[in-house]
Amino acid sequence: MVLSALSGTTNVLVKLSDLLREGKKKEAEQEIQVLEVHYNQYAASLYTTPESQAMGQDIVNRYFSLIRLLAAGSFDDRSGRELLAQGELAATEFFYYHLRERKIDARLLPALHFMSIDENQEPELEKIGERLKALLPSMDQVDILITQGYICRNHKNEIDNLKRGGSDYTASLIGAAIQAEEIQIWTDIDGMHNNDPRVVNETFPIAELTFDEASELAYFGAKILHPSTIVPAQKMGVPVRLKNTMDEKASGTLISNKGTMGVVKAIAAKDGIIVINIKSSRMLLAFGFLRRVFEVFEKFKTSIDMISTSEVAVSLTIDDPRHLESIVSELQQFGTISVEKDQTIICVVGNKLAEREGVLHEVFRSLENIPVRMVSFGGSLNNISILVNSVQKEKSLQALNHGLFNLGK
Ligand code: ASP
Ligand code: MG
Repeated sequence: MVLSALSGTTNVLVKLSDLLREGKKKEAEQEIQVLEVHYNQYAASLYTTPESQAMGQDIVNRYFSLIRLLAAGSFDDRSGRELLAQGELAATEFFYYHLRERKIDARLLPALHFMSIDENQEPELEKIGERLKALLPSMDQVDILITQGYICRNHKNEIDNLKRGGSDYTASLIGAAIQAEEIQIWTDIDGMHNNDPRVVNETFPIAELTFDEASELAYFGAKILHPSTIVPAQKMGVPVRLKNTMDEKASGTLISNKGTMGVVKAIAAKDGIIVINIKSSRMLLAFGFLRRVFEVFEKFKTSIDMISTSEVAVSLTIDDPRHLESIVSELQQFGTISVEKDQTIICVVGNKLAEREGVLHEVFRSLENIPVRMVSFGGSLNNISILVNSVQKEKSLQALNHGLFNLGK
């Protein structure tokens, strides 16, 4: 069982480490106090017997002394990462004693002893597997093994993490590393939906998805999964089931190798997209032009999502604005550059969708009143991506829901 921090905790810890890095110790202490009150209430409500109550109080006291110690010292990036780890560490300890109180046989496995990432921040799947496989046989008789999601050690053996929302990723890495029968991710929604339920009224959970479909959706805004979650599971062929904590009977979504072909499964959107246009007569009949353009993005470690070219122009999209200015100024050597912000990528996902006759017609008929800025088709057979101005997002998602699933309107 892989646990994340209590709801809201990591957000507070992130805020806290920002404050501490800026040297705002007083404001940080206020944040700590608010969180401490919350944790005291939580511990008091979690446990029933007096001994467990005392244990709960002890956990809270220990974690908050540690947080205050970290806050008092000279605060750097490394202390920040150590601070962020406390949410998962506390949650698993709470849960372990909760199971003990209920006389359920459990063991706590510290993720910091087996989860690791290399110098490129990539999880070391093989090493994780070796460490776990050496450990697990001795725990054959234990009913529940508990560990922390999200946290790990980096190549310098420092405490690090798998980025926000990384607990899903931990679960998938462990399941893949030990070749589990199935990986289950329990969240608060009944599986992946065919469209964004926050924007569109009528959506439904998808019963089955292929790994490819799920990874397209995870990247394109279906917030339910950390985008990398599927990767290790797919690599080792371990099915992933998404389940709803609020409704355990709901069947959820099963992600596996099996799938139907040529059916639209879902629509998803990703906001905050920036388009960069490069217009250049030098591109005409030139070779090596795109390579030099791509090198600029590589230099600034910014990945490109969509790309569209004509003989004299190329449009690219990025979702990371951090190096936009530097990128644009370097691109100027190639021609005239213009930038459009606040764009949204909408993607229509389905296994081998691009091979089905008439699919583009259905998509564009649905979007007939919406100005489309860019289209990407054929790059992956499983995805048709459409770029629209973000003000058109809601309307586009609704129109596609109607046109492709016959819902709403
Ligand atoms: N607690 C971490 C976060 O909020 C990891 C997770 O929730 O998956 O990002
Ligand atoms: Mg979480």
